Formats: sequence, C-alpha cells, structure tokens
Amino acid sequence: MTDRLVLVINCGSSSLKFALRSESATKPLLSGLAERLGTPEGVMNWKAGDNGERIQIRDGKHSTAMASLLPLIERFAEQPLTAVGHRVVHGGEHFTGARIIDDEVITAIEDSSPLAPLHNPAQLVGINAAMKVFTTIPHVAIFDTAFHQSMPPHAYRYALPEELYTEHGVRRYGFHGTSHRFVSSQASLLMGLEPGHGAWLTAHLGNGCSTCAILDGRSLDTSMGLTPLEGLVMGTRSGDVDPNLHSHLARTLGWDLERIDNMLNRESGLLGLSGLSNDMRTLVTARAEGHAGATLAVEVFCYRLARSLAGLAVALPRIDGVIFTGGIGENSPLVRELTVRHLALFGLAIDPAANATPPGNPARQVQMAGSPAILVIPTDEERQITEECLALLDLATTQPVEQEA
Ligand code: AMP
Repeated sequence: MTDRLVLVINCGSSSLKFALRSESATKPLLSGLAERLGTPEGVMNWKAGDNGERIQIRDGKHSTAMASLLPLIERFAEQPLTAVGHRVVHGGEHFTGARIIDDEVITAIEDSSPLAPLHNPAQLVGINAAMKVFTTIPHVAIFDTAFHQSMPPHAYRYALPEELYTEHGVRRYGFHGTSHRFVSSQASLLMGLEPGHGAWLTAHLGNGCSTCAILDGRSLDTSMGLTPLEGLVMGTRSGDVDPNLHSHLARTLGWDLERIDNMLNRESGLLGLSGLSNDMRTLVTARAEGHAGATLAVEVFCYRLARSLAGLAVALPRIDGVIFTGGIGENSPLVRELTVRHLALFGLAIDPAANATPPGNPARQVQMAGSPAILVIPTDEERQITEECLALLDLATTQPVEQEA
C-alpha cells in the first residue's frame, strides 16, 4: 500500500493550524499556522524541511488561508491527499469516534456549539473553507470529546436536577481525548503490553491541562467537565473552584457573568496565582530565584494535579503507570518530581537521573525500581488524528459506517 497522506486542520476563530502527515513518518511533511485571521494583518507561516515562508493573508479570510495551502501541498506532497482530518472540540453525546463529515455531522457540530461557543463555530468555518478547496476527498471530524464517551454515568453526571442533563446536555464531557488516547496507546507499546492494553493515569499538561483514567484504551473518567475549565490549575484557567464563587462575586463585588467568566478563563491559573506569568518555564526560573508567587503557583499546580490523579485512581482496578505529556508534562522534571512526591501512598517514586530531561526528549520510563511505571511520553495529536482518519476510511471501505449522530 502506498504511504497515504492526510492534511490535519485545527481551526480557531483567528487562527488555522495545519500539518501534512504521511501514514508512516513521525514528523509532518509540511506544517504551519495562519494567525490574526479576521483582521487585515492576517499572516501564515509554514515550514517543510529546510523550506519555509511567511505569507500575508491580506483579506484575513480563513478561506484565503485555506486556498493558499493548495499550492504548498502540491509542492510538498509526493502523491495526492487521501483525506482532510479536522479537529473538532465538542461533539456532545453525538460521537464516540471519528466521523466522515456529511450534512448530518455538520448539524450535530452546530448543535454542540452552545457547549463550546468559542471553538465549534470556528471549526465549522474551517471545515466549510476546506471542503471548498479540497473537493474530491473525504473530510473527517475527530472530536476531543469522543474518547471520553466511554465514561460511565457515575463519572459523567453532575449531582444536578435530571432535566438539566436530559433537556440541556449538562454533564461532564472531557477534552484532550486525542492526546490521552495517543499517549496511553504509546504506553502499551513502551511497556511491552498487548496493543492498547493497560491501566493508565494520564496527565496532559500544556496551556490547558487535564487528567484521565484509561483502562484498555477506554476513558473511564477525566478531570475536565462540561467545559475545559473544570479540574486542574492551567495556564490562565482556574480549574475547580467552589461553584458558589459566581454568586459570591456577583453579590459582594457586583461582577457580571462576563467579568467572572473572563477572570476564571483568562486571569486565573498559574498567571493568577503567581502574579507573574502563565508560562511554566518562566515560573520554574522565577521559583529558582526565590519568587514567592511563582513558588506558590508551582506548588498549587503540582498538588492539585496529584490530587486529581489520586482521585481518578478509583476508576481503575490497578495502576500500570502514570503518564506525563504536553509541554509541561514532557519538559518539566520539577513538575513531575513535585507531583509524584504527593503520590507516595501509591508506591510511586521517581528516579531523579531518569527524570532529568534528555536531549530529544524521547518516550521513557522515569520511575525508581519497585515503583509503578512513571512514563514521559511526547504527545502527537496530529499523528493520532491521521491514524484515526485512515482507520475510519479503511473501515468505510470494508463495511458501511454506523450512523451515531
Ligand atoms: P503546550 O500547550 O503543550 O505547548 O504547552 C505549553 C506549556 O509548556 C507552557 O506553560 C510552557 O511554559 C510549558 N513548557 C514548555 N517547555 C517547558 C520546560 N522546559 N519547562 C517547563 N515548562 C515548559
């Protein structure tokens, strides 16, 4: 079989991230980011091996950015594209896996938009633009929420009146599913288990952060909920707070919903705690120089992360390993060390030498002898999206795809 190619698209309201992936290569053939879309300063940076360029997107349109991909793909792809894979943040309860995009899927993404008002509409813009440029190949949607649809009701239901769930979809959905799925399957390979098998606690720690309990490739619980605000401390997001905080701030300070939303999503987390930065690198450096806010932010981050992992452990029959991934999880020995220190109760202990980040940052084990595995596994959501796209197309050629939406 020839090496099939997938164009992976991740579209935001003002950005369009893309990568041309082949089935077998671990690195993209072409990748880039269009930014400041929706403004006259739209710009796209791309790179392919040693080649790269900055292109102006003068009308700032997603469709123009998408159209400028076509000649690049013709230049760097060795054969025609097989599919376009679109990352979609929220699939509600409609989707348990990837789906070939048709009218029904588009309607279901629209229906889920109230649950992700910043993301789903932008991703629909990207899908429409891409379908006009790449007209002859299948477009596939891969949902951040789909992996977590295997959670049982006792994990996904809030203790709220039932009609909020049945009539309005208020439940825990979870996000970062593509990353949690990818690193857990890599962990099975790394530990020599049967493909896809194992009982894992995963921590995806980037600008957004979430944890997940995974048994044999199925998500059983995760830290994010109805929206990606629930759970861990993140770059600028608060994670869990007392649900009465909204009414408290409204009553005592007269804050409206928009102000509270903005504070919880954009001014909190590492940034709010440290008063310095949302960037873990900056905080690790400032902590070493004795900055009190940075020290507190790192400590709260690690304690809350450990508490989340410990809580999720109840979803599993045993722990085959704890997996760290994402920009922070892959690159911060300090965060891994401080977090694991809080998990001594589980017999987890980290080996300081193995934990130090080596050049190239390969997937590796960093536990002491006798401890359950502690794994550092670089995530690759684009590769996971490519694999899911191609697996779906293979399935579609051998049997009709079941309709879920
Ligand atoms: P991501 O969203 O996965 O790209 O992750 C972004 C986060 O990773 C930011 O908070 C970065 O500061 C953090 N990060 C990247 N490299 C390092 C590092 N060497 N040490 C600590 N944090 C890092």
